[in-house]
Amino acid sequence: MDQLLNQEERDFAQHMRAFYRTEIPEEIRYRVAVGEELSKDDIVTTQRILNKYGYAVPNWPVEWGGQDWTPVQRHIWLEEMQLACVPQPLAFNASMVGPVIATFGSQEIKERFLPATANLDIWWSQGFSEPNAGSDLASLKTSAVRKGDVYVVNGQKTWTTLGQYGDWIFMLVRTDPSVKKQAGISFLLIDMKTPGVTVRPIELIDGSVEVNEVFFENVEVPVENLVGEENKGWTYAKFLLGNERTGIARIGMSKVNLARAKAYAAMTRTSRGTLLDDPLFSARLTKLEAQLTALEFTQLRILSTQVAGNDKPDPRSSVLKLHGSQLQQDITELLVDVLGPQGLDFIDNAATGDGFSDLPPASVDAIRDYFNYRKVTIYGGSSEVQRGIISKAILGL
Ligand SMILES: Cc1cc2nc3c(=O)[nH]c(=O)nc-3n(C[C@H](O)[C@H](O)[C@H](O)COP(=O)(O)OP(=O)(O)OC[C@H]3O[C@@H](n4cnc5c(N)ncnc54)[C@H](O)[C@@H]3O)c2cc1C
Repeated sequence: MDQLLNQEERDFAQHMRAFYRTEIPEEIRYRVAVGEELSKDDIVTTQRILNKYGYAVPNWPVEWGGQDWTPVQRHIWLEEMQLACVPQPLAFNASMVGPVIATFGSQEIKERFLPATANLDIWWSQGFSEPNAGSDLASLKTSAVRKGDVYVVNGQKTWTTLGQYGDWIFMLVRTDPSVKKQAGISFLLIDMKTPGVTVRPIELIDGSVEVNEVFFENVEVPVENLVGEENKGWTYAKFLLGNERTGIARIGMSKVNLARAKAYAAMTRTSRGTLLDDPLFSARLTKLEAQLTALEFTQLRILSTQVAGNDKPDPRSSVLKLHGSQLQQDITELLVDVLGPQGLDFIDNAATGDGFSDLPPASVDAIRDYFNYRKVTIYGGSSEVQRGIISKAILGL
């Protein structure tokens, strides 16, 4: 991408590249590079270092710890972070609830939550989806009934990512069941230690716990925990989902994985030389490289036309989500095909390094990633839903 940047931007990229490699502990970056599960501590430690230098929430208003950067600088910040295998700031804090509070919250709620959210002193969970409200999110039923100074919340959320670590949860709740479904929703912040909140883990096929169910039984929530206006939650949710989809393309991470596949292919002997000399393989690799470059250009194009301070959801983020998630899956599939049976276990690439990052010899559990990445075309709005948005909001069909 360097050739697309002006001198100032190239210097900025160089600065971020050096920063990530010197300030973020190498053992954490190593765990990202090999696809190992990160601990809560890894994520908190990284975010606090980033926050100390003003690099945790550059997308927020400057007065709350953001940076007055151009869209291209923000792109570089994220891309270099992914290329250096640095865990990204917790999305629930940095790109979801933080921007919602900063844009729609009262001064009091901003002061109360934003500094702790940027520094990951509060770990946020996202309480949107319910057993019968995923793609059709506006059908959510969890109710919040106002009684004096509190809302009494009853219902269930599901697929709550890393809810086992959550201190607080930002929720969409139904505050008015008598109006059109989108019109009766509010955005409420709930302390997960409040009596009546129960988190139940959903064990995945590999035995890990990444998602949870969260139950609410007569949970009393102070009315001052409402963000913005009552029954305007749908507007805030659309704003939040637009932000979630922009960051979800993970182009830098896909570059790392593609480079890794290439390095392994170069080591794999065939009757003609290495796998890289195989015309069918190299055509597949080239196609993925071209698609990734095209996606990066699309992201830059979108960024360059985004107006600072614009709080309207940008439907073009659906294009990034759709193609970015598909590419992440295609690239992990390529990795599995290159590694063959070796991908069933951790393999050692000590002989080659990974050909891309500066990390010490790494291994990669390709099959684990392959299965785990099935999720990326579902969360943040499934591919079918993104196509629906693109057809309506962009193509005008
Ligand atoms: C790993 C993971 C983590 C998640 N983390 C969170 C979280 O932290 N917080 C949270 O609130 N939610 C989370 N989710 C939930 C996620 O947002 C939903 O799974 C997603 O919105 C899909 O909803 P659903 O699972 O109810 O599927 P459904 O909506 O029931 O969809 C089932 C199928 O029907 C298709 N479909 C549905 N509607 C349409 C339509 N209109 N047109 C065409 N096809 C359609 C879908 O594409 C899908 O293939 C997570 C999900 C996953 C997989």
